[in-house]
Amino acid sequence: MDNGTASRRVVIVGSGFGGLFAAKALKRARVEVILVSRTTHHLFQPLLYQVATGILSEGEIAPATREVLRGQHNARVLLGDVIGLDLATRTVTSDLLGETTITPYDYLIVAAGATQDYFGNRHFVDHAPGMKTIEDALELRSCIFGAFELAEAATDPAEIDRLLTFVVIGAGPTGVEMAGQISELARRTLPGVYRNIDPRAAHVVLLDAAPTVLASFGNKLSGKTARHLRKIGVELRLCARVVDVDATGVEVEDLQGRRRIPSLCKIWAAGVAASPLGAQLAAQSGAKVDRAGRVQVQADLTLPGYPRVFVVGDMVSFPGLPGVAQVAIQGGRYAANQIARDCAGLPTGQPFRYHDKGNMATVSRSYAVASIGPLRIAGFGAWLLWLVVHLIYLVGFKNRFTTLVDWAVAFIGRGRSERTVITQHVLSRNAARPRRNTHDDSPTASRQHAPTPKR
Ligand SMILES: Cc1cc2nc3c(=O)[nH]c(=O)nc-3n(C[C@H](O)[C@H](O)[C@H](O)COP(=O)(O)OP(=O)(O)OC[C@H]3O[C@@H](n4cnc5c(N)ncnc54)[C@H](O)[C@@H]3O)c2cc1C
Repeated sequence: MDNGTASRRVVIVGSGFGGLFAAKALKRARVEVILVSRTTHHLFQPLLYQVATGILSEGEIAPATREVLRGQHNARVLLGDVIGLDLATRTVTSDLLGETTITPYDYLIVAAGATQDYFGNRHFVDHAPGMKTIEDALELRSCIFGAFELAEAATDPAEIDRLLTFVVIGAGPTGVEMAGQISELARRTLPGVYRNIDPRAAHVVLLDAAPTVLASFGNKLSGKTARHLRKIGVELRLCARVVDVDATGVEVEDLQGRRRIPSLCKIWAAGVAASPLGAQLAAQSGAKVDRAGRVQVQADLTLPGYPRVFVVGDMVSFPGLPGVAQVAIQGGRYAANQIARDCAGLPTGQPFRYHDKGNMATVSRSYAVASIGPLRIAGFGAWLLWLVVHLIYLVGFKNRFTTLVDWAVAFIGRGRSERTVITQHVLSRNAARPRRNTHDDSPTASRQHAPTPKR
């Protein structure tokens, strides 16, 4: 620790909502900020489904983190997969293509988010991509548009049916948004562009083991969403448990027994598991983790016994905190504020208070649902509100402007400009998979992260 005149170092893990907003909130603090992330971008996850369905390009929802923090001179971005957090030596170990970097910290904010959970069925991941990363969205985009192309070239009617059957597993906000958009794509955008198939014949199935869609929005909005989904051609199969997924289809068990749905394109939107870094922190601090691997933090979002180590966002298990962007944003800002207070010699440890700004989900063009305080809105008004809120939270003026143009193309017109399909989008994900979330890569080189020279 320094003598109070030199700046202290805050290491932030993750460039998502929690990490980026924490870094920005430290702009005026007398600290050096190092943000370590495995991606070069900040990802606006709520619009991933629009990349997967050809409305937006990946750059519009994933601006470069370096660019976002360009004017913040106390912040540095370090690309790397964090493979070790050591609370005793106060260091963060990251790996970039085999080169290991060890970064010491005075304060640590861990905001590594969550990954898709396949509930122990590891082989499902090979056939049903999730919706968590840009890689996922691009792979799905290739799979969705590629399925129409394959159907156009096929001659066997059963095979055409299989290719035009899209199965979305999980009827939470992500599943509902994906199912609604694939249905609109088939019925509104693609008719007229194929010669052998009618895209309107596409069959979109939304499955969930629960008896309702959007369960967290309450009965009224859940019922309205289900009715609207059926109206736009989505088949709902509720109380249906997926028991197997393979290359050619999905096996489902419901009250009628076990059935198979032949399908090429399957999308997994069912489960969420916190970053494995949570388990590392828990093992060293004695904190508990819940079934989803989220860390049970103290009221000030710190680890027990480690008042300078904060965990925020999707990695946190705390009563009343859902896994939404606002929890991560407010948690990141709160942690930054606590650090700035500590550096200024002010008292810290005030409990984190989450201000619930409500929940929204789009179902289709011009139809969304919103639950804000006591208000429950469904329809066009909720959709306009959804557009405005998402535009406000998109990072960067250029992104907002181009997103607005693409929305006009897709929602006022029928076009979708991001329809490029390349096999690499599918192949690169498979090539990268063995390295994801593995913490046993043997480093080929190691270096210490030197303190930043003073500006
Ligand atoms: C498809 C989808 C739609 C959503 N829609 C909504 C919505 O409409 N409204 C809403 O409020 N919320 C929504 N959410 C939830 C919201 O996006 C999350 O709650 C929020 O992103 C959590 O922020 P976070 O900072 O905890 O994690 P993330 O935003 O996921 O960020 C995690 C960061 O950590 C990095 N990282 C992970 N592991 C490592 C590692 N080992 N080393 C280095 N870096 C690492 C990642 O690259 C990423 O930069 C949605 C989520 C998804 C997936």
